[in-house]
Amino acid sequence: MISILLGAPGVGKGTQAALAAERHGWTHLSTGDLLREEVSAGSALGQEAKAFMDRGDLVPDQVMVSMVAERIAALPKDSVLLLDGFPRSLPQARALEAAAPSGSLGLALYFTASDEVLTARLLGRGRKDDTLEVIQHRLAVYRETTEPLVAFYRDRGLLREIESDREVDAIQEDVLGAVSAVLERPEPA
Ligand code: AMP
Repeated sequence: MISILLGAPGVGKGTQAALAAERHGWTHLSTGDLLREEVSAGSALGQEAKAFMDRGDLVPDQVMVSMVAERIAALPKDSVLLLDGFPRSLPQARALEAAAPSGSLGLALYFTASDEVLTARLLGRGRKDDTLEVIQHRLAVYRETTEPLVAFYRDRGLLREIESDREVDAIQEDVLGAVSAVLERPEPA
């Protein structure tokens, strides 16, 4: 089952996904982490991605789609995949529907918090692409390109909203509840 983690940068998707993966043996796939590894390794892909990431822009869809499709194809059939940071645009969301095995897209967890909370968290984490200017640009890109996915997944009946200005454990409980509800659903006949 594939669960998408949707929400603005800084909302805590990565923290929640890592914790849930560790506790329940699920697979956490963060496209941001994959890209940062490519950048550190100095690969051709990393060199191409770096300029986009430094500006707070999205890396081109084609690059991202092949990166994720490859990994989905390699997954054991009964695994639970937490997809963190992908899709981030409508073309990516459509490509995911095409790449995912039929019926495997089970959930889109939509993490929400106010812009003030998001900015404070991003500034606090002190990563190189987290200067105020870049943060504000990333939030603007999120609103314009990624937020339409909320309606996309709501239309498909997959969206579950999680208020994320709360303690990590309280949020984690909601994540577990939402994923478990999908896993425990009887298979359609
Ligand atoms: P993240 O750690 O998820 O915030 O990602 C860090 C940066 O990697 C983003 O600001 C983007 O430049 C890039 N990135 C990560 N995932 C994607 C994606 N699905 N599509 C385009 N760019 C991405």
